[in-house]
Amino acid sequence: MTDDLTKCYYCGTTENVDTHHCIHGKIGRKLSTQYHLLVGLCEEHHRGRFGVHGKYGYEKDLKLKAEAQQKWEERRVKKGKSTPDEVRDEWMAIFGIDYIKEFDDFIHECERDFITEEEEERIFAELYKGEN
Ligand SMILES: [Zn+2]
Ligand SMILES: [Zn+2]
Repeated sequence: MTDDLTKCYYCGTTENVDTHHCIHGKIGRKLSTQYHLLVGLCEEHHRGRFGVHGKYGYEKDLKLKAEAQQKWEERRVKKGKSTPDEVRDEWMAIFGIDYIKEFDDFIHECERDFITEEEEERIFAELYKGEN
């Protein structure tokens, strides 16, 4: 995913940096290596509480997976190995989970949880102000 695995993907430090497989799990690790879906991560961003493997790192982990998928798809289209229409199906055939969609759903769920309907209406009114 990045050329420089000696630097933390998030904070840029070069101290105590480990290679992280963006898609993990047994098969995921192999695929991550094969397709170079790897990043360098410092101890905190890797195994810290808010790191990708941490107790509170779920969102960061999922976002990184979605980014890895995005990069993979872009790379493949750029190399002419598949068309933009086909590339998502190819990702699914290999990795089995659409992380871009998962992350999107997750974010929408969070929004639903934290924003009341009145707030949402107000935000939409702001957004679309002057568009009618
Ligand atoms: Zn870091
Ligand atoms: Zn890791």
